[in-house]
Amino acid sequence: MGNQTEIISKIIRERYGNADFIPLHSPYFGGNEKKYLNECIDSTFVSSVGAFVDQFEAEIRKITGSKFAIAVVNGTSALHTALILAGVKRDDEVISQSLTFVATTNAISYIGANPVFIDVDKDTLGLSPEKLADFLAQNTHQDDAGNCVNNKTGRVIRACVPMHTFGLALRIEELVKVCRNHNIKVVEDAAESLGTYVDGKHTGVFGDLAVFSFNGNKVATSGGGGAIITNDDNLGKLAKHITTTAKTPHPYEFFHDQVGYNYRMPNINAALAVAQLEQLDEIVANKRETAQFYHERFLNNGVNFVAELENTKSNYWLNTVLLDNETERDSFLHGTNQSGIMTRPIWTLMNKLPAFEMMQCDDLSNSEWLEKIIVNIPSSFISNK
Ligand SMILES: *Cc1c(COP(=O)(O)O)cnc(C)c1O
Repeated sequence: MGNQTEIISKIIRERYGNADFIPLHSPYFGGNEKKYLNECIDSTFVSSVGAFVDQFEAEIRKITGSKFAIAVVNGTSALHTALILAGVKRDDEVISQSLTFVATTNAISYIGANPVFIDVDKDTLGLSPEKLADFLAQNTHQDDAGNCVNNKTGRVIRACVPMHTFGLALRIEELVKVCRNHNIKVVEDAAESLGTYVDGKHTGVFGDLAVFSFNGNKVATSGGGGAIITNDDNLGKLAKHITTTAKTPHPYEFFHDQVGYNYRMPNINAALAVAQLEQLDEIVANKRETAQFYHERFLNNGVNFVAELENTKSNYWLNTVLLDNETERDSFLHGTNQSGIMTRPIWTLMNKLPAFEMMQCDDLSNSEWLEKIIVNIPSSFISNK
């Protein structure tokens, strides 16, 4: 085992004990989960409507401070819907990160739009406002209608999807400013950042729309689930409408006024989510303690921990360290996983996947550098019960 592997493993074991297997992130069910699931089954409303869906949406509005929250079946469908609502159409372009989970890029493709990959900042792992501003200044012009047009392709850049990586907030205020200057809508992929704040405001309220995921591996889970938030009255109402088959309200008639989607979150999933959201503050506080534990010890041992920016408060969904180089990274992954400590590298960059390798890329030197040296280490909630 290499020196860094030994040092980091020892600190992880100090935090998570000597179990045979330490998972990367397991869900925590310490509240009313079973109670609400039973209530939901007893009510017979387990499917596409029910009180828990309404409660879940109210809770998301409260947590984020957003005017509208729409429950959907997963984070990917939330992204697909948010991009449609942002006005993205076939053959448009959408700016995004190549350093992200594939769902971000897939959602752009579902519409027949093309991602354009811009670099991330090394410290936030999120889309770089500076790099985006440079790219737009050098490679785009405004057409008569005020659209931002890509000089190379002649296509309209309609939207931008920045992603708050591992729950760390990116420089979202600066990024939104750059996009506004170029008439580009912003959809925040906040799938990983429930409970993360920038200047006291919840991630997701800076752009035109944002999405969250409640998949089993996220900070709070509904089994599978997602949410869309927006402050825009029209977009908020439309989001609910098109994710529920675009049915015109009527006691018994079936009339659908446009193509809609069956993207509803089932009530039984919402029941689980409501119980989870009741514990969100506790979960995030606990995860932040783990991050602080790691950060202090890593600082003293020369390990490069990725910490939140000063004006932000991260949920520290997955704690992240940077190793010295790719060889160290590989030996770390091998050593830890072999000794029962689950760790993992970051995703393969989107521009290297077969479906997206022909898409336009700006300089991606930070993403390329990070891809080789990032690892996630165990970050689960620690229960004293
Ligand atoms: C989890 C995740 C999603 C998608 O969420 P699902 O609920 O799994 O569909 C989207 N983007 C990012 C960055 C994610 O981590």
